[in-house]
Amino acid sequence: MTSTVSSAMPNPTSFPLPVIAAAPAAGNGPVGANEPPSAELLANLAVQSQRLETATPREIIAWAVETYFPELTMATAFGPEGCLIIHWLAQIEPRTYVFNLETGYQFPETLALRDRIAQRYGLVVDLRQPDTTVEQYEAQHGGPLYNRNPDQCCFDRKIRVLQQATTGMRAWMSGIRRDQSPDRAKASIVSWDKKFNLVKISPLANWTKQDVWKLIVAEDVPYNPLHDQGYTSIGCWPCTRSVMFGEDERAGRWSGTAKTECGLHTLGDKE
Ligand code: SF4
Repeated sequence: MTSTVSSAMPNPTSFPLPVIAAAPAAGNGPVGANEPPSAELLANLAVQSQRLETATPREIIAWAVETYFPELTMATAFGPEGCLIIHWLAQIEPRTYVFNLETGYQFPETLALRDRIAQRYGLVVDLRQPDTTVEQYEAQHGGPLYNRNPDQCCFDRKIRVLQQATTGMRAWMSGIRRDQSPDRAKASIVSWDKKFNLVKISPLANWTKQDVWKLIVAEDVPYNPLHDQGYTSIGCWPCTRSVMFGEDERAGRWSGTAKTECGLHTLGDKE
């Protein structure tokens, strides 16, 4: 379900998507497809990823746009990394389809940031919602699942929605960084995302938290005000708390449980 679409952003339902090629196209970059990748494509992605290790995030985004637009999309939870990628995308190709997984459980401050980004860049992030409202979902399951079965809740309200949002796309970008967690430490800049059958591009993979915040301050990029209240990583409100000094950056996510990821970026899902 799509709730809002920018005048600058094409609505995915009316977006003029070219027919997806199953084989690598001629040109200088790899071509993904919504079907299993060929060995040639995987090898090409590995070469590109290695080559881009020394590129700046802006150069990586420019490469992604040149290689995949308009079948390039970006998912953002309005974290600082996502805001920074939007900052560059607005300069490079503002028609890139950017969306947020609006689970129904996000903080008001997070959703308000979407409006500030629209005002600053004229780029409106599309809110992609599950098929059920929070009320319907909780009624179906006899109450919230986030405290009893968060994996199912994340699957229903994030992963399934991302699968729908990326239909017809060849590549997606995310803001993950290697220094965020041991699992993310293995992230490539360019890889095949087996879970979504897409090329995955992580322009900030080899940036640090300090790199990100330094540029956000220098460029006056809008960010979530909850970061100033001790929330270092922000997801849905039932599964997010502020962190104390010395705690890990993602310690406030699913705190008190063994869960550390919603599943969107779980490694083992990529080649
Ligand atoms: Fe549900 Fe929590 Fe996952 Fe949000 S982060 S989808 S509330 S389990």
